[in-house]
Amino acid sequence: MKKVVILGSTGSIGTQALDVARHLIKSLKIVGLSSFSNILRLKDQIREFRPEIASVWFEKDCIELKSWCRENNLKTEVVFGIEGLIKAAKHHSSNFVLSAVVGSIGIEPLLEAIKSKKQIALANKEALVVAGKLIMDAAKKCGVTIIPVDSEHSAVFQCLKNEKNKFISKIILTASGGPFYKKSKTKHSKVTVAEALSHPTWKMGKKITIDSATLMNKGLEAIEASHLFNVPLKNIEIVIHPQSIVHSLVQFVDGSVLAQLSNPDMRLPIQYALTFPERIKSGVKELSLTRIKKLEFDVPDFKRFPSLELALKAGKTGGTMPAAMNAANEVAVEKFLKKEISFSQIPKVVKKVMDKHLLNKNPNIRQILNSDLNSRKAALKIIKEIKH
Ligand code: NDP
Ligand code: MG
Repeated sequence: MKKVVILGSTGSIGTQALDVARHLIKSLKIVGLSSFSNILRLKDQIREFRPEIASVWFEKDCIELKSWCRENNLKTEVVFGIEGLIKAAKHHSSNFVLSAVVGSIGIEPLLEAIKSKKQIALANKEALVVAGKLIMDAAKKCGVTIIPVDSEHSAVFQCLKNEKNKFISKIILTASGGPFYKKSKTKHSKVTVAEALSHPTWKMGKKITIDSATLMNKGLEAIEASHLFNVPLKNIEIVIHPQSIVHSLVQFVDGSVLAQLSNPDMRLPIQYALTFPERIKSGVKELSLTRIKKLEFDVPDFKRFPSLELALKAGKTGGTMPAAMNAANEVAVEKFLKKEISFSQIPKVVKKVMDKHLLNKNPNIRQILNSDLNSRKAALKIIKEIKH
């Protein structure tokens, strides 16, 4: 029986994970849920799944939710803040944590879940980008398997089953290209929030949708893959594939290439992570290659999408640089969504923060979290200057 805590249960991945959980009722129990501030959705989830613990971000929401639980005769313990999230992540009744929060806030809960020897399904890519080495080292030490939920990494994970690391020649990550794959760079400054949020093939949370439009997402995913599969960034290739059918590929030293294909539907990698090593029927539409007829592949345009280059540069530099890059991007995306900066200013903010960053080549967790915090402040300062 998997006893699951879902961190970020009210988000895009979280709600789809609960959809999957409804079909796995015999082999899976929901023990913990968490949201940032979407209390209405969290209440519905608590009423339906009756978890032992629920975590929210703000104390006032915690107080309200506690009294609501009392009135409704629900025994769920309600906690808040980062301590609450960590408490949910290492809850004694669970043996499995799906981390689906967005951003580097997921690092500490993830590390605590690993130290408590929970099996992990990981959607929260920013945690691996920022603290990948420490997370993978902790997982190894604690004998914990991290099963990726990100579709590309789930594809690679499936292709690598029973293969030795030394046989990998390269990992090929596919990218849809986002809504501006064909748009000229001069037009990037005029992109509206609504346009950037209209992803051609996936329906996701706002932050990752903007990252997909800037191609930052693929840079983050290259770093994520490098940590998950212990493959250097130079052996990770990025290929644009607008149909999002081939989710990623692995080329082996003998020249053989394995790929995983399906219609784009996140419920599939989520279900695979929750049922691994088993496979069960899913509601995902069956793939018909003869109906699709054409699958296209192209090289990414680094000039039109500078965020991709910046992420790869941060990954290659290592140390605290990915923390600086990621923090700047999180802040810049948030400000773009609030219409305070333009789409083309996102990579400019990231570059300025990275240029100013004082690199620590071999940081511990405190130093990484400090770099994250300081880079957020630096990004806010740069954005303030841009606006004046
Ligand atoms: P969403 O924005 O839809 O959901 C994020 C979840 O995290 C929500 O439950 C949100 O709560 C919660 N949350 C947000 N900020 C905080 C915070 N500071 N502290 C605690 N909880 C917080 O994101 P997605 O589901 O799209 O993405 C989640 C992660 O999965 C990201 O790292 C993303 O890159 C990755 N991913 C997502 C995919 C997708 O299809 N959506 C595909 C592949 C990877 P609330 O609802 O209250 O705001
Ligand atoms: Mg992905």
